[in-house]
Amino acid sequence: MRTTLGGVDPGRNRRNREALLEAGRSIGHAFSARELHAAARHDRPRIGLTTAYRAIERWRDEGLVEDAGTRAGEAVFVMCGADGHHHHLVCVDCGAVSTLEGCALVSLRRAAESVGFEISDRALQSLPGRCARCAAA
Ligand SMILES: [Zn+2]
Ligand SMILES: [Zn+2]
Ligand SMILES: [Zn+2]
Repeated sequence: MRTTLGGVDPGRNRRNREALLEAGRSIGHAFSARELHAAARHDRPRIGLTTAYRAIERWRDEGLVEDAGTRAGEAVFVMCGADGHHHHLVCVDCGAVSTLEGCALVSLRRAAESVGFEISDRALQSLPGRCARCAAA
């Protein structure tokens, strides 16, 4: 019989990560670490906020999530499986995400080049905006 009392359950971290991944995929909009944590707690009530932060760090390294700017002063992230060069529009109010195929910054890049600058595209991968619903509200 296996017991986890007083020891480390080797499956626990994996199950926590799976719960976080599931939560991230089901949220359906750009999320902060706190929102991811709250969503994952439906399944895993004892999951820690630090675990959520660490999971996001790891997913960023693995290319599973991208920075999506900030909402209400908090860094938010988007789960992204899009191939090829693309940008996201991220609603600063509700976190709704739209994906723009290709580069949305061609004219900006040209304008920058004309004054001797190179745009760091990565920093502008997600562009802040307001979705139609929030703009109408
Ligand atoms: Zn993306
Ligand atoms: Zn919105
Ligand atoms: Zn681009």
